[in-house]
Amino acid sequence: MGCRLNAAEGARIRGALEAAGWEVREDGSPGEAPADAFVLHSCAVTGAAQAEALRRVRAAKRAGIPEIVVAGCVANVAPEAELREAGATGVVSRRASAATGLAAIVGAALRGAVAPELLSFATTRAPVKIQDGCSFRCSYCIVPDARGEPRSRPFGEILSECSALVARGYREIVLSGVNVACWREGGRTLSSLVRAVAAIPGLARVRMGSVEPRTTEEEVVALMGEPEARLCPMLHYPLQSGSDRILRAMRRRYTAAQYRGAVERALARVPRLGLGADVIAGFPGETDADFEETVRLVRDYPFSNLHVFPYSERPGTPAAAMPGAVPVRVRRERARALIAIGEEKRAAFAASLAGAEADVLVERVGPDGTASGWTGQYLRARIPGRSPADAGALLRVRVLRAEGDALVAAPV
Ligand code: SF4
Repeated sequence: MGCRLNAAEGARIRGALEAAGWEVREDGSPGEAPADAFVLHSCAVTGAAQAEALRRVRAAKRAGIPEIVVAGCVANVAPEAELREAGATGVVSRRASAATGLAAIVGAALRGAVAPELLSFATTRAPVKIQDGCSFRCSYCIVPDARGEPRSRPFGEILSECSALVARGYREIVLSGVNVACWREGGRTLSSLVRAVAAIPGLARVRMGSVEPRTTEEEVVALMGEPEARLCPMLHYPLQSGSDRILRAMRRRYTAAQYRGAVERALARVPRLGLGADVIAGFPGETDADFEETVRLVRDYPFSNLHVFPYSERPGTPAAAMPGAVPVRVRRERARALIAIGEEKRAAFAASLAGAEADVLVERVGPDGTASGWTGQYLRARIPGRSPADAGALLRVRVLRAEGDALVAAPV
């Protein structure tokens, strides 16, 4: 379940299980023939996500699966007794004592290095975990409890994992973590890590996961504007709200004006920058006027990827106990309005690329010779008239036109 970091960790868990002789079925459900075991790498970002995790554990138990292991954020924030009651036979968490059997394999996979030849992903893109944990303590977020203090993975370890993935044919590395901009090692910061990863021979490009505005080095943004740096021109800055009052209540570390400043600097620096943001609609105390400020901010910039979430109480966070709860119906209405704006903006951004050049990493070539893949800005692109040999290639293309939020392009 959950975020890119969980996907990166999930690949490690799968690799470790396969190495231990398990045959892994990756459908996220118990399937038709009952499995011998069920491993859930869970997400606790909202109360609903946690309820979904417990539902899946109960379903696995009902399906008669004898061994059920829960890892990930729910394992760290939910009482172990509750998970066992739902059916878990093993819980892998930061506080868990010595585990045995399957839980020990999963725990070791999450803690230690897993040989990169054991990792496997569904596309040519591989998420690589560079960092874990966060100490920002935004008032709605359970992650600091679930994942603990920020820890950077060692530079050498990240590079050797990336090199091994590239040697196995992965063409794009996604640098993933909870608060990626916090990555440090001695005098090294994120920009030096990006440069080093991008220099791995055979790698087509590097992509940054979402980064906190104002803690991200300007140099990382500058690299997005340098084609030889091979860093995708896609910046995902979580916004959450455009109202200073709400940002303060959220304990975010910027004002709306500071967010605008960071976005404007990036847009000035990086041509045709893909711009992403997460927004929460209906945080406690959010008035119509606060919401309008968010709408105004979103309308002011060419966002290409807007992720909108109606606020959902996450038990155990300060926000869950705040007064001024917004009725769920209003949260949903506001979210729907923002989603519609986001879709409009995404299509407008795609249309704005007509005539421009872009790089497309080809994921597959269909039987009719149409290659499809993603641009650096994370737009889907189709390139007719290609051969199967193009799969995995990074093609320089000219965008002919947009169809909705996807592009039709021809090689340059
Ligand atoms: S920056 Fe805030 S929202 Fe993001 S993980 Fe840290 S506490 Fe949570």
